[in-house]
Amino acid sequence: VAPILLHFLYSTATPYTTLPSVLLLGPPGAGKTALTTLFERGPNQPPNGPVAKTHTSQVPSSIELSVNSDDPSTSYKTNLDSEGATAKKFLLVDTPGHPKLRAQSLVHLNSAEPTIKSSLVSDGGAKSKIKAVVFMVDAAALADGDALPSAAEYLYDVLLTLQKRFHSRNGSRAPASMPVLVAANKLDLFTALPAALVKSNLEAELGRIRAARSKGLLDSGVGQDEVAAGEEGDWLGGDGSEKFSFAQMMEFDVDIDVIGGSVIGDGPGAEKWWKWIGERV
Ligand code: GDP
Repeated sequence: VAPILLHFLYSTATPYTTLPSVLLLGPPGAGKTALTTLFERGPNQPPNGPVAKTHTSQVPSSIELSVNSDDPSTSYKTNLDSEGATAKKFLLVDTPGHPKLRAQSLVHLNSAEPTIKSSLVSDGGAKSKIKAVVFMVDAAALADGDALPSAAEYLYDVLLTLQKRFHSRNGSRAPASMPVLVAANKLDLFTALPAALVKSNLEAELGRIRAARSKGLLDSGVGQDEVAAGEEGDWLGGDGSEKFSFAQMMEFDVDIDVIGGSVIGDGPGAEKWWKWIGERV
């Protein structure tokens, strides 16, 4: 009976179906590996809180996680099996934040239906559909100013990729929207900026980058009209707006939330991020 059953299972499974994934992006040191470790441990948290190992890998590493599909706000520390809850599985893909490797991470977002090949899927050809992006920043590092330009530069490229993707249609079908969570990490540190300031500082910096890049284009001889055309160029967000705001990205179906939290120490924790993710996978 077993071979027949196996045959039945294999023949009904579509080779393209695999777990959806959430892409974890952000500059080095933001806490991406620490977060991955925290979620991976689930109900098996060490008594003295999480200890992060540093991710020196140059390739994305994925872990398989489960949320309670009936109630995404269920803590990541809950053992869903023993609670008898229905679990929805997904992959969290941690990417290297080093500037030289960022382009590799962005390639995955650069299509109407963003997918990523997962090392976790035994079927080598299978691709996982990217359902959401988590962009993590170190809210304490952002406070002293130096880290802001480089974090914003990376975020600019992520959002611009998603904006351009909006115009890459599959026939008449517009690409599915892509939710983005800016996770303001390390709020356990008293020097950290609260989420509202992380948001406004990033928006201001993204606006500065936008102005600088369009000026760069003008200086390089690209005509005023072409720059103003916006859509196809490097102009992030709505046309004609002087200030950049995350809300402008709604026009391109990129819905951005900024939520504060912490992975380590005595802070707000990571449950709000977990819930945000759970509602989108
Ligand atoms: P990654 O480069 O983004 O993967 O960052 P890591 O996960 O390696 O974290 C960088 C450093 O920040 C490590 O020393 C972590 O222990 C520390 N870290 C991560 N999250 C927090 C946090 O919430 N609070 C504090 N105080 N430190 C954190």
